[in-house]
Amino acid sequence: MTPADLEFDQRHIWHPYTSMTQPLPTYPVESAHGVMLYLADGRQLVDGMSSWWAAIHGYNHPRLNQAAVDQIGKMSHVMFGGITHPSAIALSRQLVEMTPAGLECVFLADSGSVAVEVAIKMAMQYWQARGEKRQKLLTLRNGYHGDTFGAMAVCDPQNSMHSLYQGYLPEHLFATAPQSRFDQPWNAEDIAPFAALLAEHQHHIAAVILEPIVQGAGGMRIYHPEYLKQVRALCDDAGILLIADEIATGFGRTGKLFACDHADIAPDILCVGKALTGGYLTLSATLTTRNVAETISNGEAGCFMHGPTFMANPLACAVASASLSLLAENRWPLQVAAIEEQLKAELTPLKQHAAVADVRVLGAIGVVEMHQPVDMARLQQHFVAQGVWIRPFGKLIYLMPPYVITPAQLRQLTQAIASALEALYSDR
Ligand code: PMP
Repeated sequence: MTPADLEFDQRHIWHPYTSMTQPLPTYPVESAHGVMLYLADGRQLVDGMSSWWAAIHGYNHPRLNQAAVDQIGKMSHVMFGGITHPSAIALSRQLVEMTPAGLECVFLADSGSVAVEVAIKMAMQYWQARGEKRQKLLTLRNGYHGDTFGAMAVCDPQNSMHSLYQGYLPEHLFATAPQSRFDQPWNAEDIAPFAALLAEHQHHIAAVILEPIVQGAGGMRIYHPEYLKQVRALCDDAGILLIADEIATGFGRTGKLFACDHADIAPDILCVGKALTGGYLTLSATLTTRNVAETISNGEAGCFMHGPTFMANPLACAVASASLSLLAENRWPLQVAAIEEQLKAELTPLKQHAAVADVRVLGAIGVVEMHQPVDMARLQQHFVAQGVWIRPFGKLIYLMPPYVITPAQLRQLTQAIASALEALYSDR
Protein backbone atom coordinates (compact mmCIF):
# COMPACT_ATOMS: atom_id res chain seq x y z
CA MET A 1 0.00 0.00 0.00
CA THR A 2 1.51 3.31 -1.06
CA PRO A 3 1.09 6.70 0.65
CA ALA A 4 -1.08 7.63 -2.34
CA ASP A 5 -3.38 4.69 -1.56
CA LEU A 6 -3.83 5.90 2.00
CA GLU A 7 -4.41 9.44 0.81
CA PHE A 8 -7.08 8.15 -1.57
CA ASP A 9 -8.64 6.21 1.29
CA GLN A 10 -8.81 9.33 3.46
CA ARG A 11 -10.21 11.50 0.72
CA HIS A 12 -12.69 9.18 -0.95
CA ILE A 13 -13.76 6.30 1.28
CA TRP A 14 -16.20 6.44 4.16
CA HIS A 15 -15.22 4.39 7.20
CA PRO A 16 -17.75 3.49 9.91
CA TYR A 17 -18.89 6.54 11.88
CA THR A 18 -15.93 8.54 10.58
CA SER A 19 -15.72 12.12 9.36
CA MET A 20 -14.70 12.83 5.76
CA THR A 21 -13.12 16.10 6.84
CA GLN A 22 -11.33 15.01 10.01
CA PRO A 23 -10.93 11.27 9.66
CA LEU A 24 -9.35 9.26 12.44
CA PRO A 25 -6.25 7.33 11.38
CA THR A 26 -6.82 3.99 9.68
CA TYR A 27 -4.31 1.17 9.93
CA PRO A 28 -3.63 -0.68 6.68
CA VAL A 29 -3.98 -4.44 7.14
CA GLU A 30 -2.58 -6.63 4.40
CA SER A 31 -3.45 -10.05 5.70
CA ALA A 32 -4.73 -11.86 8.75
CA HIS A 33 -4.11 -15.33 10.03
CA GLY A 34 -5.41 -17.06 13.13
CA VAL A 35 -5.59 -14.37 15.80
CA MET A 36 -3.06 -12.06 14.11
CA LEU A 37 -3.56 -9.03 11.88
CA TYR A 38 -0.56 -8.16 9.68
CA LEU A 39 -0.06 -4.47 8.95
CA ALA A 40 1.43 -3.17 5.72
CA ASP A 41 4.48 -1.85 7.60
CA GLY A 42 5.30 -5.31 8.92
CA ARG A 43 3.84 -4.91 12.41
CA GLN A 44 1.74 -7.76 13.79
CA LEU A 45 -1.25 -7.25 16.05
CA VAL A 46 -3.10 -9.69 18.29
CA ASP A 47 -6.77 -9.21 17.44
CA GLY A 48 -8.98 -8.45 20.44
CA MET A 49 -12.12 -7.63 18.45
CA SER A 50 -12.88 -10.63 16.21
CA SER A 51 -13.73 -7.96 13.61
CA TRP A 52 -16.75 -6.87 15.68
CA TRP A 53 -17.83 -10.22 17.15
CA ALA A 54 -17.51 -12.10 13.88
CA ALA A 55 -14.19 -13.95 13.39
CA ILE A 56 -14.72 -16.52 16.14
CA HIS A 57 -12.50 -19.22 14.59
CA GLY A 58 -9.73 -16.79 13.64
CA TYR A 59 -8.75 -15.50 10.20
CA ASN A 60 -7.79 -17.51 7.15
CA HIS A 61 -9.09 -20.74 8.63
CA PRO A 62 -8.25 -23.70 6.38
CA ARG A 63 -11.71 -25.27 6.68
CA LEU A 64 -13.55 -22.05 5.97
CA ASN A 65 -11.20 -21.23 3.11
CA GLN A 66 -11.81 -24.66 1.63
CA ALA A 67 -15.57 -24.27 1.91
CA ALA A 68 -15.35 -20.97 0.01
CA VAL A 69 -13.10 -22.43 -2.68
CA ASP A 70 -15.33 -25.48 -3.13
CA GLN A 71 -18.40 -23.32 -3.49
CA ILE A 72 -16.74 -20.86 -5.90
CA GLY A 73 -15.93 -23.80 -8.15
CA LYS A 74 -19.66 -24.53 -8.38
CA MET A 75 -21.25 -21.06 -8.27
CA SER A 76 -20.75 -17.94 -6.20
CA HIS A 77 -24.31 -16.82 -6.48
CA VAL A 78 -27.62 -17.75 -7.95
CA MET A 79 -30.98 -16.08 -7.35
CA PHE A 80 -33.08 -17.65 -4.59
CA GLY A 81 -36.44 -16.90 -6.20
CA GLY A 82 -37.66 -20.21 -7.60
CA ILE A 83 -34.23 -21.80 -7.06
CA THR A 84 -32.66 -23.54 -4.09
CA HIS A 85 -29.16 -24.93 -3.48
CA PRO A 86 -27.37 -27.38 -1.18
CA SER A 87 -25.50 -24.75 0.86
CA ALA A 88 -28.69 -22.95 1.88
CA ILE A 89 -30.32 -26.23 2.80
CA ALA A 90 -27.32 -27.49 4.81
CA LEU A 91 -26.98 -24.19 6.67
CA SER A 92 -30.69 -23.89 7.44
CA ARG A 93 -30.78 -27.47 8.75
CA GLN A 94 -27.90 -26.66 11.10
CA LEU A 95 -29.58 -23.45 12.25
CA VAL A 96 -32.90 -25.14 12.98
CA GLU A 97 -31.07 -27.88 14.84
CA MET A 98 -28.88 -25.67 17.03
CA THR A 99 -31.15 -22.70 17.85
CA PRO A 100 -33.66 -22.74 20.73
CA ALA A 101 -36.65 -25.06 20.36
CA GLY A 102 -39.52 -24.15 18.06
CA LEU A 103 -37.58 -21.99 15.62
CA GLU A 104 -38.15 -23.87 12.40
CA CYS A 105 -38.43 -21.44 9.51
CA VAL A 106 -35.31 -19.64 8.29
CA PHE A 107 -35.05 -16.38 6.35
CA LEU A 108 -31.50 -15.81 5.04
CA ALA A 109 -30.69 -12.12 4.68
CA ASP A 110 -27.73 -9.87 3.99
CA SER A 111 -26.59 -8.35 7.27
CA GLY A 112 -27.50 -8.00 10.90
CA SER A 113 -29.51 -4.83 10.38
CA VAL A 114 -31.48 -6.46 7.59
CA ALA A 115 -32.19 -9.48 9.83
CA VAL A 116 -33.69 -7.03 12.32
CA GLU A 117 -35.77 -5.35 9.58
CA VAL A 118 -37.00 -8.79 8.56
CA ALA A 119 -37.89 -9.66 12.16
CA ILE A 120 -39.84 -6.42 12.60
CA LYS A 121 -41.66 -6.93 9.29
CA MET A 122 -42.51 -10.49 10.30
CA ALA A 123 -44.07 -9.21 13.53
CA MET A 124 -46.06 -6.55 11.64
CA GLN A 125 -47.30 -9.02 9.03
CA TYR A 126 -48.18 -11.54 11.72
CA TRP A 127 -50.59 -9.11 13.36
CA GLN A 128 -51.94 -7.88 10.05
CA ALA A 129 -52.74 -11.47 9.13
CA ARG A 130 -54.59 -11.81 12.42
CA GLY A 131 -56.66 -8.77 11.53
CA GLU A 132 -55.08 -6.43 14.07
CA LYS A 133 -53.18 -3.27 13.34
CA ARG A 134 -50.30 -3.50 15.78
CA GLN A 135 -47.27 -1.43 14.93
CA LYS A 136 -45.58 -0.60 18.22
CA LEU A 137 -42.49 -2.36 19.41
CA LEU A 138 -41.48 -2.51 23.04
CA THR A 139 -37.75 -2.52 23.68
CA LEU A 140 -35.11 -1.63 26.26
CA ARG A 141 -33.07 1.49 26.76
CA ASN A 142 -29.36 1.04 26.02
CA GLY A 143 -30.22 -1.33 23.20
CA TYR A 144 -28.59 -1.49 19.79
CA HIS A 145 -30.06 -3.30 16.79
CA GLY A 146 -28.43 -1.84 13.69
CA ASP A 147 -28.21 1.22 11.48
CA THR A 148 -31.10 0.84 9.03
CA PHE A 149 -34.28 2.78 9.77
CA GLY A 150 -36.39 0.04 11.34
CA ALA A 151 -33.46 -1.10 13.44
CA MET A 152 -32.42 2.43 14.40
CA ALA A 153 -35.93 3.12 15.67
CA VAL A 154 -35.40 0.50 18.41
CA CYS A 155 -31.87 1.60 19.35
CA ASP A 156 -31.50 3.60 22.56
CA PRO A 157 -33.07 7.00 21.83
CA GLN A 158 -30.36 8.88 23.74
CA ASN A 159 -27.07 7.31 22.79
CA SER A 160 -27.99 6.59 19.17
CA MET A 161 -29.10 8.60 16.21
CA HIS A 162 -32.75 9.29 17.02
CA SER A 163 -32.37 13.03 17.29
CA LEU A 164 -30.76 13.20 13.83
CA TYR A 165 -33.73 11.51 12.19
CA GLN A 166 -36.53 12.83 14.35
CA GLY A 167 -39.83 12.90 12.55
CA TYR A 168 -38.73 10.19 10.17
CA LEU A 169 -38.30 7.33 12.61
CA PRO A 170 -41.30 5.45 13.93
CA GLU A 171 -41.74 6.00 17.66
CA HIS A 172 -41.62 2.90 19.81
CA LEU A 173 -41.76 2.16 23.54
CA PHE A 174 -38.61 2.06 25.67
CA ALA A 175 -38.44 0.41 29.06
CA THR A 176 -35.70 1.24 31.56
CA ALA A 177 -32.78 -1.12 30.91
CA PRO A 178 -32.37 -4.02 33.34
CA GLN A 179 -30.33 -3.00 36.40
CA SER A 180 -29.70 -6.39 38.02
CA ARG A 181 -26.30 -7.57 36.91
CA PHE A 182 -25.70 -11.05 35.61
CA ASP A 183 -23.50 -12.03 38.53
CA GLN A 184 -25.46 -10.38 41.33
CA PRO A 185 -28.71 -11.19 43.10
CA TRP A 186 -31.91 -10.61 41.16
CA ASN A 187 -33.93 -7.58 42.23
CA ALA A 188 -37.62 -8.39 41.70
CA GLU A 189 -38.38 -4.68 41.12
CA ASP A 190 -36.24 -4.70 38.01
CA ILE A 191 -38.98 -5.95 35.71
CA ALA A 192 -41.59 -3.45 36.93
CA PRO A 193 -41.00 -0.66 34.34
CA PHE A 194 -41.11 -3.16 31.49
CA ALA A 195 -44.21 -4.87 32.88
CA ALA A 196 -45.96 -1.53 33.32
CA LEU A 197 -45.29 -0.39 29.74
CA LEU A 198 -46.38 -3.73 28.38
CA ALA A 199 -49.62 -3.65 30.36
CA GLU A 200 -50.37 -0.05 29.35
CA HIS A 201 -49.86 -0.58 25.61
CA GLN A 202 -50.64 -4.29 25.37
CA HIS A 203 -53.08 -4.04 22.47
CA HIS A 204 -50.83 -1.93 20.29
CA ILE A 205 -47.61 -3.88 20.77
CA ALA A 206 -46.66 -6.22 17.94
CA ALA A 207 -43.47 -7.50 19.53
CA VAL A 208 -40.84 -7.02 22.15
CA ILE A 209 -37.34 -6.79 20.73
CA LEU A 210 -34.21 -7.03 22.84
CA GLU A 211 -30.63 -8.24 23.00
CA PRO A 212 -30.70 -11.17 25.43
CA ILE A 213 -28.29 -10.95 28.42
CA VAL A 214 -25.69 -8.66 26.81
CA GLN A 215 -26.61 -5.24 25.51
CA GLY A 216 -23.73 -4.67 23.10
CA ALA A 217 -23.07 -1.43 21.25
CA GLY A 218 -25.53 0.45 23.51
CA GLY A 219 -23.23 0.09 26.53
CA MET A 220 -21.89 -3.49 26.86
CA ARG A 221 -24.27 -4.12 29.77
CA ILE A 222 -24.61 -7.68 31.08
CA TYR A 223 -27.91 -8.34 32.85
CA HIS A 224 -29.61 -10.99 34.93
CA PRO A 225 -31.17 -14.02 33.18
CA GLU A 226 -34.24 -13.73 35.41
CA TYR A 227 -35.12 -10.50 33.58
CA LEU A 228 -35.22 -12.37 30.30
CA LYS A 229 -37.26 -15.19 31.82
CA GLN A 230 -39.83 -12.73 33.08
CA VAL A 231 -39.97 -10.90 29.75
CA ARG A 232 -40.73 -14.22 28.08
CA ALA A 233 -43.47 -14.99 30.60
CA LEU A 234 -45.04 -11.52 30.22
CA CYS A 235 -44.99 -11.82 26.42
CA ASP A 236 -46.62 -15.24 26.68
CA ASP A 237 -49.35 -13.94 28.97
CA ALA A 238 -50.09 -11.04 26.64
CA GLY A 239 -49.74 -13.04 23.41
CA ILE A 240 -46.99 -10.68 22.22
CA LEU A 241 -44.11 -11.92 20.07
CA LEU A 242 -40.61 -11.89 21.48
CA ILE A 243 -37.76 -11.06 19.08
CA ALA A 244 -34.27 -11.96 20.36
CA ASP A 245 -31.46 -10.14 18.60
CA GLU A 246 -28.54 -12.54 19.02
CA ILE A 247 -26.51 -10.97 16.22
CA ALA A 248 -23.72 -10.18 18.67
CA THR A 249 -24.33 -12.80 21.36
CA GLY A 250 -25.02 -15.87 19.21
CA PHE A 251 -22.73 -18.83 18.59
CA GLY A 252 -21.08 -19.23 21.97
CA ARG A 253 -19.81 -15.73 22.72
CA THR A 254 -21.48 -15.48 26.14
CA GLY A 255 -20.52 -18.99 27.26
CA LYS A 256 -23.79 -20.55 26.02
CA LEU A 257 -24.49 -21.30 22.40
CA PHE A 258 -27.18 -18.60 22.48
CA ALA A 259 -27.62 -16.00 25.20
CA CYS A 260 -31.29 -17.08 25.49
CA ASP A 261 -29.96 -20.38 26.85
CA HIS A 262 -28.84 -18.58 30.04
CA ALA A 263 -32.54 -18.13 30.81
CA ASP A 264 -33.76 -21.33 29.17
CA ILE A 265 -36.13 -19.46 26.95
CA ALA A 266 -36.90 -19.52 23.25
CA PRO A 267 -37.97 -16.40 21.37
CA ASP A 268 -40.65 -16.37 18.66
CA ILE A 269 -38.23 -14.71 16.28
CA LEU A 270 -34.43 -14.93 16.45
CA CYS A 271 -31.88 -12.82 14.56
CA VAL A 272 -28.33 -14.06 14.01
CA GLY A 273 -25.47 -12.64 11.96
CA LYS A 274 -21.86 -11.57 12.55
CA ALA A 275 -20.21 -14.89 13.62
CA LEU A 276 -22.62 -16.85 11.41
CA THR A 277 -20.01 -17.02 8.63
CA GLY A 278 -17.08 -17.05 11.06
CA GLY A 279 -16.57 -13.46 9.97
CA TYR A 280 -15.90 -14.28 6.31
CA LEU A 281 -18.85 -12.81 4.49
CA THR A 282 -21.92 -10.80 5.27
CA LEU A 283 -24.92 -13.02 5.98
CA SER A 284 -27.65 -13.11 8.59
CA ALA A 285 -30.66 -15.22 9.38
CA THR A 286 -34.02 -14.55 10.96
CA LEU A 287 -35.66 -17.68 12.31
CA THR A 288 -39.23 -18.00 13.44
CA THR A 289 -41.79 -20.54 14.56
CA ARG A 290 -44.07 -22.54 12.29
CA ASN A 291 -47.02 -20.68 13.84
CA VAL A 292 -45.67 -17.23 12.94
CA ALA A 293 -44.64 -18.37 9.45
CA GLU A 294 -48.02 -19.97 8.74
CA THR A 295 -49.99 -17.05 10.12
CA ILE A 296 -48.06 -14.65 7.85
CA SER A 297 -48.50 -16.96 4.88
CA ASN A 298 -52.25 -17.21 5.43
CA GLY A 299 -52.57 -13.43 5.59
CA GLU A 300 -53.68 -10.96 2.94
CA ALA A 301 -50.32 -10.82 1.16
CA GLY A 302 -50.11 -14.62 1.04
CA CYS A 303 -46.41 -14.56 1.75
CA PHE A 304 -43.71 -12.71 3.64
CA MET A 305 -42.91 -9.57 1.64
CA HIS A 306 -39.13 -9.53 1.51
CA GLY A 307 -36.70 -11.00 -1.00
CA PRO A 308 -33.26 -9.46 -1.42
CA THR A 309 -31.15 -9.97 -4.54
CA PHE A 310 -28.41 -11.78 -2.68
CA MET A 311 -30.75 -13.80 -0.46
CA ALA A 312 -29.06 -17.05 0.67
CA ASN A 313 -25.89 -16.23 -1.26
CA PRO A 314 -24.32 -19.67 -1.83
CA LEU A 315 -20.78 -18.55 -1.05
CA ALA A 316 -21.80 -17.05 2.29
CA CYS A 317 -24.04 -20.06 3.08
CA ALA A 318 -21.23 -22.52 2.33
CA VAL A 319 -18.79 -20.74 4.62
CA ALA A 320 -21.46 -20.31 7.31
CA SER A 321 -22.27 -24.00 7.15
CA ALA A 322 -18.57 -24.85 7.55
CA SER A 323 -18.34 -22.41 10.47
CA LEU A 324 -21.31 -24.03 12.23
CA SER A 325 -19.76 -27.47 11.62
CA LEU A 326 -16.62 -26.26 13.38
CA LEU A 327 -18.75 -25.05 16.28
CA ALA A 328 -20.53 -28.41 16.38
CA GLU A 329 -17.19 -30.07 17.12
CA ASN A 330 -17.69 -28.46 20.51
CA ARG A 331 -14.30 -27.04 21.29
CA TRP A 332 -15.85 -23.63 21.90
CA PRO A 333 -17.29 -24.31 25.39
CA LEU A 334 -13.85 -24.99 26.83
CA GLN A 335 -12.21 -22.23 24.81
CA VAL A 336 -14.79 -19.64 25.89
CA ALA A 337 -14.70 -20.82 29.54
CA ALA A 338 -10.91 -20.49 29.58
CA ILE A 339 -11.09 -17.01 28.06
CA GLU A 340 -13.70 -16.01 30.64
CA GLU A 341 -11.55 -17.23 33.51
CA GLN A 342 -8.47 -15.43 32.25
CA LEU A 343 -10.36 -12.21 31.49
CA LYS A 344 -11.77 -12.24 35.02
CA ALA A 345 -8.35 -12.82 36.55
CA GLU A 346 -6.54 -10.20 34.49
CA LEU A 347 -9.15 -7.46 34.03
CA THR A 348 -10.80 -7.45 37.48
CA PRO A 349 -7.74 -5.89 39.22
CA LEU A 350 -8.06 -2.90 36.86
CA LYS A 351 -11.19 -1.89 38.83
CA GLN A 352 -8.79 -0.39 41.37
CA HIS A 353 -7.65 2.25 38.88
CA ALA A 354 -9.12 5.68 39.57
CA ALA A 355 -10.11 6.20 35.93
CA VAL A 356 -12.03 2.90 35.76
CA ALA A 357 -15.73 2.87 36.65
CA ASP A 358 -16.39 -0.85 36.23
CA VAL A 359 -15.03 -4.13 34.91
CA ARG A 360 -17.34 -6.91 33.74
CA VAL A 361 -16.81 -10.23 32.03
CA LEU A 362 -19.11 -12.83 30.53
CA GLY A 363 -17.91 -15.67 28.33
CA ALA A 364 -15.42 -14.34 25.80
CA ILE A 365 -16.42 -10.70 26.46
CA GLY A 366 -14.36 -8.46 28.73
CA VAL A 367 -15.35 -4.85 29.38
CA VAL A 368 -13.47 -2.06 31.11
CA GLU A 369 -15.77 0.92 31.52
CA MET A 370 -14.06 4.24 32.15
CA HIS A 371 -15.53 7.22 34.01
CA GLN A 372 -14.99 9.47 30.99
CA PRO A 373 -15.22 8.91 27.23
CA VAL A 374 -11.85 7.80 25.91
CA ASP A 375 -9.65 9.48 23.32
CA MET A 376 -10.01 6.73 20.76
CA ALA A 377 -7.18 7.80 18.44
CA ARG A 378 -4.68 8.14 21.25
CA LEU A 379 -5.64 4.91 22.90
CA GLN A 380 -5.58 3.05 19.62
CA GLN A 381 -2.11 4.34 18.87
CA HIS A 382 -0.98 3.02 22.24
CA PHE A 383 -2.55 -0.37 21.60
CA VAL A 384 -0.96 -0.72 18.17
CA ALA A 385 2.41 0.15 19.68
CA GLN A 386 1.79 -2.68 22.16
CA GLY A 387 1.10 -5.08 19.30
CA VAL A 388 -2.65 -5.46 19.82
CA TRP A 389 -5.85 -4.48 18.01
CA ILE A 390 -8.44 -3.09 20.41
CA ARG A 391 -10.97 -0.49 19.33
CA PRO A 392 -12.67 1.30 22.20
CA PHE A 393 -15.85 3.36 21.89
CA GLY A 394 -17.38 5.92 24.22
CA LYS A 395 -16.32 5.06 27.76
CA LEU A 396 -15.72 1.42 26.89
CA ILE A 397 -12.52 -0.50 26.31
CA TYR A 398 -13.54 -4.04 25.57
CA LEU A 399 -12.25 -7.37 24.33
CA MET A 400 -14.01 -10.12 22.40
CA PRO A 401 -11.20 -12.15 20.90
CA PRO A 402 -11.47 -15.10 18.53
CA TYR A 403 -12.15 -18.30 20.51
CA VAL A 404 -8.84 -19.79 19.30
CA ILE A 405 -6.73 -17.19 21.10
CA THR A 406 -3.93 -18.63 23.26
CA PRO A 407 -3.47 -17.65 26.92
CA ALA A 408 -0.26 -15.78 26.00
CA GLN A 409 -2.03 -13.80 23.26
CA LEU A 410 -4.94 -12.99 25.57
CA ARG A 411 -2.47 -11.86 28.20
CA GLN A 412 -0.97 -9.49 25.65
CA LEU A 413 -4.42 -7.93 25.20
CA THR A 414 -5.17 -7.51 28.89
CA GLN A 415 -1.62 -6.24 29.53
CA ALA A 416 -2.07 -3.65 26.81
CA ILE A 417 -5.19 -2.33 28.54
CA ALA A 418 -3.38 -2.23 31.88
CA SER A 419 -0.43 -0.43 30.34
CA ALA A 420 -2.74 2.05 28.60
CA LEU A 421 -4.25 2.92 31.98
CA GLU A 422 -0.76 3.44 33.35
CA ALA A 423 0.51 5.44 30.40
CA LEU A 424 -2.52 7.61 29.63
CA TYR A 425 -4.36 7.84 32.95
CA SER A 426 -1.60 7.84 35.54
CA ASP A 427 -2.23 11.41 36.67
CA ARG A 428 -5.60 10.45 38.19
N1 PMP B 1 -27.89 -6.15 16.30
C1 PMP B 1 -26.86 -6.20 17.16
C2 PMP B 1 -27.09 -6.68 18.57
C3 PMP B 1 -25.58 -5.80 16.74
O1 PMP B 1 -24.56 -5.83 17.62
C4 PMP B 1 -25.40 -5.38 15.41
C5 PMP B 1 -24.05 -4.95 14.88
N2 PMP B 1 -23.22 -4.29 15.73
C6 PMP B 1 -26.50 -5.35 14.55
C7 PMP B 1 -27.72 -5.76 15.03
C8 PMP B 1 -26.37 -4.90 13.13
O2 PMP B 1 -25.65 -5.79 12.37
P1 PMP B 1 -24.92 -5.32 11.01
O3 PMP B 1 -23.85 -4.38 11.43
O4 PMP B 1 -24.42 -6.59 10.43
O5 PMP B 1 -25.97 -4.68 10.17
